[in-house]
Amino acid sequence: DAHTAERGMSLLRRLADHGYEGYFVGGCVRDELMGRPINDMDIATNATPEQVLELFEHTVPTGIAHGTITVIVDGEHFEITTYRTEGQYVDHRRPEQVEFVSDLYEDLRRRDFTMNAIARGLDGEYVDPFHGREDLQKGIIRCVGVPGERFDEDALRMVRGLRFASVFDFELEPETWAALLERRELIRYIATERIRVEMEKMIAGSHPVKGIRLLQQSGLVGYMKVNVPCPAARPELLERLEVVAGEPWLLRWTLIMLALGCNDEQARQALKQWTFSNAAVDLVVRLLRLHQQLLTVDMPTAQDTNDKHDVVASQEKSNPARLTLIAGVLHYGQDTAELWQQLYTALPEQDHTPTLRILYEQAPAWIESMQAYSLADLCVNGQDVLSALDTRGGPWLGKLMQQILLAVASGKLDNERNTVLDYARTHAETGGKAN
Ligand code: ATP
Ligand code: MG
Repeated sequence: DAHTAERGMSLLRRLADHGYEGYFVGGCVRDELMGRPINDMDIATNATPEQVLELFEHTVPTGIAHGTITVIVDGEHFEITTYRTEGQYVDHRRPEQVEFVSDLYEDLRRRDFTMNAIARGLDGEYVDPFHGREDLQKGIIRCVGVPGERFDEDALRMVRGLRFASVFDFELEPETWAALLERRELIRYIATERIRVEMEKMIAGSHPVKGIRLLQQSGLVGYMKVNVPCPAARPELLERLEVVAGEPWLLRWTLIMLALGCNDEQARQALKQWTFSNAAVDLVVRLLRLHQQLLTVDMPTAQDTNDKHDVVASQEKSNPARLTLIAGVLHYGQDTAELWQQLYTALPEQDHTPTLRILYEQAPAWIESMQAYSLADLCVNGQDVLSALDTRGGPWLGKLMQQILLAVASGKLDNERNTVLDYARTHAETGGKAN
């Protein structure tokens, strides 16, 4: 916002006051020209990292080997990087070594696309030697310099190109596209983690379907180390990606997994391969499992569909749809149940089976009606049950407690000490303990 811009300007001013050059560069200049919200403001300077460290009060040498110092102003982070070129490219990857240079042009020249190679100075003047503004205007992704050489140097740029084309709904300039097609197999040199970062941005953008189509058309997918069954088993689900707007973006990845025809285990493997965090993988897997369980609810038999609707939609304690949903909330958490409702709305009409529709419609009321949401809500704990049964614990106890929880949550059983312990006595014999 305006404050961020002002703080950024104060950094440029300070550099200038001490005789150094300073420019906004990269994504922030591009996004500002496009009228898009700006993520991070990156600054390039001819001051050395040591000089930058000396010049500012609150600094963190985040990437000092690459010339990057983070400067903190009013709690906000800015990255100031010394003009640099990259060292020798080995194996089609970005090198670890960089070389500092004194010239802004040299720094802009090593950047990937013309729209990312624009600098903006203190007085608002642009340094745009590769005509990035013109390409932005035309909606074109064009490599800086000779496309083939640029992709040879760092093959990740191919995925970045498709990412920008997807997010901005831009087209790849023909030479850039042709070079990409020729070199697509180089993508196998790139670590999956770097590709995933770009893919996440692509999928989170406004035109994820375009990105996926470009990945397929380019043939890049064929050379990624991630084992995704492509093309999708259910491409019509991909078309629905844009329906789930906003975070969490993992909802979109869940939809992708469904589109690929992955079950929960296959999704776990695929997302792990993609190097998603365990927390992210778990969220998707929980959601897929809940969906799977809701899909397989046993409908009570009724002749007439209207009747059926009434039976299944009721608050009836033994209603299987209601019980399955409540069990799902207990097992996967209320947040997962809420995500499932969003997932449902994203699914195409033909996936809205009568039972799922009822589940979707009734979910808020059914969740609201729950008498307990976790073991902590019960009036007894495992120890109480053991004392009442005068016995020792075992794996059966956990099962029994879950059984009690479901009975209380669904309203079958009053959450009252004697009632619950009676229930425990009966079910410990017939249930887990006897087995
Ligand atoms: P975003 O808005 O997603 O952050 P960005 O353009 O800022 O987009 P970053 O990955 O943050 O992307 O990179 C910052 C800048 O660094 C880019 O604008 C580009 O100038 C340069 N850059 C990043 N990655 C590469 C690369 N692989 N090759 C060449 N230049 C790159
Ligand atoms: Mg950036």
